[in-house]
Amino acid sequence: MTLDVFKMKVCGNCINWRPLQSYSSLGKCVACNKMTGRYDNGGCGNYARKNLSYFDFMWCMTCGTMVHKSDYDLHIGHELVPEPYIDPDLHEETYAVD
Ligand SMILES: [Zn+2]
Ligand SMILES: [Zn+2]
Repeated sequence: MTLDVFKMKVCGNCINWRPLQSYSSLGKCVACNKMTGRYDNGGCGNYARKNLSYFDFMWCMTCGTMVHKSDYDLHIGHELVPEPYIDPDLHEETYAVD
């Protein structure tokens, strides 16, 4: 059921990585405060494997919707990612992501 990429040590599998809302194969490592690609090697020293139970909500890229943890079962095999990172270019520079 699981694709190999889900087992790989890549940024897209790290809890510190947030996909860009506007371009989901790029994202931001919130631990390094750095833009990285989804399939970049997660060797930055802050890699922590994504764990569904870590998040109360996740974004399902397959369905294009937010999913509460009680509904994760309905999205097995889908691409669940942490809540997308809001591209700061769309906002003022003072916009802060916590
Ligand atoms: Zn990092
Ligand atoms: Zn889904």
